[in-house]
Amino acid sequence: MALLGCLGTILAALSLHSVSRSRSERAVETKAQIVQQAIDAELDRYRASLADVAAAVGAQTQLEAGEFAAIVAPVTQRRLPGAVGVSLVVPAATGDVSRVQAYWRRHGSTDLALHPRSDVDTHYFAVMTRRLDGATPRTGIDAAAAAPPVQALTTARTSRDIAVSPTYPLLGDADLPAGERQLSFIMAAPVFATSPPSAAGQFRGWIVLAFRGGDFLRTAIGQVAGKQANVELSDTGGEPVPVAVWDSGVRLDGAIAVQRRAVTAPQRTWELRIEATEDLVPATEERLDEAALVVGTVITLLLAALTSAIVTSRDRALRKVDQATRALRDDIGRREIVERKLRQREEELVAFAGVVAHDLRSPLANVSALAEVLAEETEDTLSAEHRQFLDRLRLSAARMSDLIDDLLAYAKADNVALRPEVIDLDAMVRDIAAERATGSGTVFAQDLPRVRGDRTLIRQVLDNLIGNGIKYTPPGRIPEVRVTSCPQNPGWCRIDVADRGIGVPEQQRRDIFEAFTRASGSEGFQGTGLGLAIVGRIVERHSGAVGVDANPGGGSRFWFTMPMADDRAPARAP
Ligand code: ADP
Repeated sequence: MALLGCLGTILAALSLHSVSRSRSERAVETKAQIVQQAIDAELDRYRASLADVAAAVGAQTQLEAGEFAAIVAPVTQRRLPGAVGVSLVVPAATGDVSRVQAYWRRHGSTDLALHPRSDVDTHYFAVMTRRLDGATPRTGIDAAAAAPPVQALTTARTSRDIAVSPTYPLLGDADLPAGERQLSFIMAAPVFATSPPSAAGQFRGWIVLAFRGGDFLRTAIGQVAGKQANVELSDTGGEPVPVAVWDSGVRLDGAIAVQRRAVTAPQRTWELRIEATEDLVPATEERLDEAALVVGTVITLLLAALTSAIVTSRDRALRKVDQATRALRDDIGRREIVERKLRQREEELVAFAGVVAHDLRSPLANVSALAEVLAEETEDTLSAEHRQFLDRLRLSAARMSDLIDDLLAYAKADNVALRPEVIDLDAMVRDIAAERATGSGTVFAQDLPRVRGDRTLIRQVLDNLIGNGIKYTPPGRIPEVRVTSCPQNPGWCRIDVADRGIGVPEQQRRDIFEAFTRASGSEGFQGTGLGLAIVGRIVERHSGAVGVDANPGGGSRFWFTMPMADDRAPARAP
């Protein structure tokens, strides 16, 4: 998941990166186009101004200094930024220099002193100059001293059109400190006479605009480039030489490619070089991809951590459940083993008790019989005290016999094989009542059903309960035992044996079904504490339930449940 998340984040960051790159590229291209258009428009303005001046000068029949001053008056640095001066330049052969000087002195340039170079034949002298930068005009310098202006003058004259020179150090700056010197160039417009008509087409010289490259176009470029780009306009005739430079003062954005454009100056091609600064594309946009990468990675890592925490805690929980299940299974296994052993031991003990009880029976019968014989034969001879001893001996033997009977019944209730059959409970209860012969009106049976069970054992159950009902009636009160029934779950019925006896305290009603347990209050009644244990076992073996409640109006109400008989099977008489 972390891998997929990182992959997705990287892809998103890459696509954002490429989108932001192409946006940056488009932005710098647009910027380059705007700068180029601005330069083209400016150049057109310079060219138009120069052409106007040249035309005006050509229209003069006889150019005087005053007229020149008037013609070039509109030419200001504000109108043509970077231009340092406008001059009328005329050619002169070496032999003509003094004539030319005299001519222009006559026409207003009174102080003109021409300084021809000695190493050339054709000289080019500025005979009238208007400085635009406020400096004192310098006339008389021979422009032939530098090749670049000569090249522009020649081209302009031969092509009869405006020409721009290659860039060169300005002649007039030669004596300035090196730091203040600027690379410069000139723009020259040939002047052909248009007046008088007789002289029309006659070449008169050039109107030359001299520029300092550093200032040229600074305003125009600066306005459009601002802080978003550095611009360099270079003359590419040979080695690139800067014509104009705009430094935004802002750090360059190295990631964006440099834009190059060709700019057409009059009869020259310059190269425009535009470098984007960090202001061109806002840093926030540029770093969108990095931000996306960081945010995406962080989210991915968080999600991965969360998922792994959930998975590990789930695994841990599952492991704990497994451990607990294993422990429970082991526990249940151990319990089953212990229960089996206990059950086995209990069965052994019951069987053992049965055997012991059985073996005790005959010696006890002997003891009883001998005590009986002794009592008969010594009836007259025994003292009253010894007769009392003999009576107690017979009573103890009788009690022991009861105990042995109960023990045997208890053992039997657990071990004897069940032989289920249909039992008519009504008949069975009547029979028990008759057998007990407690007098009329003691045991009542009411519409008892036919049930299915082991006849001998069920009889033992009823006999025990009816017997207890009679036995636990306080002396002086006539016993009254009612056996009734009511339907239970489908196919089952509940048999109730209710008496008017001493009752069983509520908290002991469960315990009395345990072997050898007797309830408080029954001390005066003879018993072994095994009867109800036998009842419990027998009912349990028939899959029924057993219990005791208080009998409303006094006494106890013992009950047990039995499966109803399937009437197709015939009932056997008890
Ligand atoms: P016992 O031989 O003592 O009667 P049982 O197992 O039959 O042994 O009864 C257990 C005890 O339950 C009795 O000792 C007696 O305290 C109490 N009990 C049983 N039946 C009744 C009853 N019908 N009325 C009152 N108490 C009874």
